[in-house]
Amino acid sequence: MQSTAREFQLIHHYFQRHAQYDQSVALGIGDDCALIEANPAMQQAISVDTSIAGRHFPQDADAYFIARRALNVSVSDLAAMGAIPRWFTLAISLPDMNAAWLERFSEGLFSAAKDANIQLIGGDTTKSRELSITIQVHGEVEKGQALKRSGAQVGDTIYVTGVLGSAAAGLDLYQQGERAGNLLSAYLDPVPQLSKGRALLKVASSCIDISDGLLGDLSHILAASHCAAQLDLAAIPLAQDNIERFGKVRALNWALNGGDDYQLCFTSQLSQAQLLEQGIEAFAIGTICQGTGITCINALAGVDCTIRGFDHFYEPAI
Ligand code: ADP
Ligand code: MG
Repeated sequence: MQSTAREFQLIHHYFQRHAQYDQSVALGIGDDCALIEANPAMQQAISVDTSIAGRHFPQDADAYFIARRALNVSVSDLAAMGAIPRWFTLAISLPDMNAAWLERFSEGLFSAAKDANIQLIGGDTTKSRELSITIQVHGEVEKGQALKRSGAQVGDTIYVTGVLGSAAAGLDLYQQGERAGNLLSAYLDPVPQLSKGRALLKVASSCIDISDGLLGDLSHILAASHCAAQLDLAAIPLAQDNIERFGKVRALNWALNGGDDYQLCFTSQLSQAQLLEQGIEAFAIGTICQGTGITCINALAGVDCTIRGFDHFYEPAI
């Protein structure tokens, strides 16, 4: 009985009492299910992601950023579909009940929830050896309008919404012991491109968020759209700090095959100038063509254009 009381106290103290609801939530945290009133004019966009300590984020990272990051990587999937964030659930497995840690986690979670305007409506709390956080997000998007990976057309321009490679550089610096700076923030506190995703609804033919490196994620668009790409590596936007700290080749390799940037990669018939007229700032990095695969032009010596992506079940040959 004691343990049950503790579990409910924990849920109430760190999660339930901070949750705020709009009219769409008929019943929030506290019952067997949450009840929501979805907008009948919209489709629901649903995505789930698990973050595991030591694999998706450093075990010793500030719990505030662990929480923000766990929520924002899921919210980024909503951004990539052009959806409006609405509700989310949180399944957390904790190795112990550390009040200071949970306080920071809760602060981070609700700060990111506020940024994205998304409401925590339920979850599950368990104990396990490994810290693991699973977040399911629900968003809404106008019927038939969602941005999909399929839809890129031969002749479309390929764009990204911001600099790439900074998060991988930030992780490298974190592992070297640095704890502050722009590159560190890019890794620890990625910003989901929600307003860009919404603006792209009318102008993009396909879209994906870049979680596993540009090449891997662009190749998902190509596979779904049955086409090929030519990328101009000289056009890929990189952060100045990244180039200064690590050199252009390393920065570019991280942009191509590093992870965790959470910028959007999309295709459109419109030119960069036409996008800008509509208030959409993006960088043209290539073109969609017939065939399969990705051809890179303007590669510097030492730049690796192999599509590596990320595969949890990859086992190197020994
Ligand atoms: P049940 O046994 O019916 O699954 P739980 O004891 O797991 O219920 O949870 C009680 C209530 O608290 C439920 O409404 C559940 O959604 C909510 N909840 C549990 N853990 C969390 C959490 N980490 N964040 C938000 N809500 C939670
Ligand atoms: Mg439960």
